[in-house]
Amino acid sequence: MNIDRDFYKTLLDGLYEGVYFLDRSRVIRYWNRSAERITGYFADEVLGKRCSDNVLMHVDESGRALCGSASCPAVAAMTDRRAHEVEVYLHHKDGHRLPALTRVAPIRDSKGEIIGAVEVFTDNRKLHEAQQRVENLERLALMDQLTEIGNRRYGEVYLQSSLNRLARYGWPFGLLFADIDDFKKVNDAYGHEVGDMVLKTVAKTLIHNVRASDCVSRWGGEEFVILILHADIGHIERCGEKLLALIRHCSVTLDSSIVQVTVSMGGTCARADDTIETILARADELMYRSKQGGKDRLTLAP
Ligand code: GH3
Ligand code: MG
Ligand code: MG
Repeated sequence: MNIDRDFYKTLLDGLYEGVYFLDRSRVIRYWNRSAERITGYFADEVLGKRCSDNVLMHVDESGRALCGSASCPAVAAMTDRRAHEVEVYLHHKDGHRLPALTRVAPIRDSKGEIIGAVEVFTDNRKLHEAQQRVENLERLALMDQLTEIGNRRYGEVYLQSSLNRLARYGWPFGLLFADIDDFKKVNDAYGHEVGDMVLKTVAKTLIHNVRASDCVSRWGGEEFVILILHADIGHIERCGEKLLALIRHCSVTLDSSIVQVTVSMGGTCARADDTIETILARADELMYRSKQGGKDRLTLAP
């Protein structure tokens, strides 16, 4: 078999991976067929150019440009004479950014001098899809199936990180504990399905009427926990009263009747020495006082 230059070109062009070669000054000297397919740039558009001449311009996931800096995998490989593997986002000719897994190895001449680097990259779509599947699963694991808001686990995670931030940076937050009044009567009078519709209505009203940074979770059957970030007791009170009024004016319309419910709430501010258990016990106790006081109301204590 006659192995000549064309053989290597055919071999490299047949690879699924994009392959290119950079000389010491990071000028692109070779660009295979898959590099064309993945990036949209034809070889004659990039040969003789530097990567940073508006070609690939890798950035990391925070958007930091890697070109020319010590974080550039090609610079790193030529400097420490080792192979590097990094996940980058490359610039497609059409303008968008693509995730790519890139491996760079230094290339030496016959005397052992570094003459450049070879970069092999795959469009990382499969990995990206796998990551998105994991994110979807995480979302499912933290989402309440009926109401499609966060579940108790989600509320606990958010609450714990809010407690950590309060302890570390002093960022204040408050919590409202809400329990639907006489919900058993709704189920008994109209059936479980209507009860479910009421739960969804209450959940949607809560989630649509807090700030994006606040957190609403379904804590249990007909109980919800609302975390209000950067809030003092006055803010918690205004938020709680608004939610009470909005829920009071919600309705589920059936053929021959309209179902309306109210909630009772307890509201409190987080304290530096609170745990998930102590702050919830306090809010639950305050909610219970709202029940004893006649329901459809908010009881507060700092
Ligand atoms: P109170 O005003 O004292 O809170 O009375 P209540 O009837 O709301 O309280 P109770 O705790 O006695 O009843 C809660 C009811 O919520 C009982 C349970 O069947 C119902 N429930 C819990 N989860 C669900 C659910 O997912 N769907 C429906 N339809 N009902 C639920
Ligand atoms: Mg309850
Ligand atoms: Mg109840």
